[in-house]
Amino acid sequence: MRDLNKLALRLRKAARVRLFLDYDGTLAGFAETPDKIIPDPGLADLLSRFVDHTRFRVAVISGRRLSHIEKLLPIPGLLLAGTYGIELRTPAGDRINRLELAAVRPTLEQIKPLWENLVSNGKGFYLEDKGWSLAIHARFAQDDDAQTLLESARTLAGDMIDPRVYHLRDGHKFLEVAPILANKGQAVRYIQKHYPWPGAELVFVGDDDKDEDAFAVINDLGGTSIVVATPPRSTAATHRLESPPAVRAWLTGLLADTEV
Ligand SMILES: [Mg+2]
Repeated sequence: MRDLNKLALRLRKAARVRLFLDYDGTLAGFAETPDKIIPDPGLADLLSRFVDHTRFRVAVISGRRLSHIEKLLPIPGLLLAGTYGIELRTPAGDRINRLELAAVRPTLEQIKPLWENLVSNGKGFYLEDKGWSLAIHARFAQDDDAQTLLESARTLAGDMIDPRVYHLRDGHKFLEVAPILANKGQAVRYIQKHYPWPGAELVFVGDDDKDEDAFAVINDLGGTSIVVATPPRSTAATHRLESPPAVRAWLTGLLADTEV
């Protein structure tokens, strides 16, 4: 892992810094269920200060649906990306769907009742319909139950999807069926292509395996990848912060470095 202080020094000298930030597990701790939407005034204030600062541009890229992220971060001028970058809200406030919902729903509607049936027979599971994807959260289930149920869900969905269009993503006690376009690395490339900011230093901060896609892309683009993890784990990221509070403190430090 490389030195965060050296990175801060470099960013302090940079004329332009584009920050790509994950939300859950990065800017904020995990919610009990993804439907719990509790905005954090301190976080909104911090990100507003970046929006006001001409040296920074901020994009938040989350696996949550865009409507949730908008409620969590009611800040004009931020670029927000939901469902791993399928749905975007531009800094000017325009909405972009990179995929027609109507093209995605028929397959998800086939899978949904089967997954609902599985989840309703288990304890501690939660089925989230994000529009463009379906996710089973098993954080509050027993380990063995989670493994068995997620394996069944994977088999059921695996038989129903076209692997050229959809993929199944695993996480810690988590399974999601989503379009292949739902990929944070591709989201970073999309933003860089459609909202270029020449010469900007690029930084991506994220905590889980869906962020690894973006770490690889950011590294490829010559940027900096920061994983949020305690203890350290195997990652493509070049730097590490320990926790969401550490991320906020580090971001606050970046502002302190640049505000006169
Ligand atoms: Mg996260």
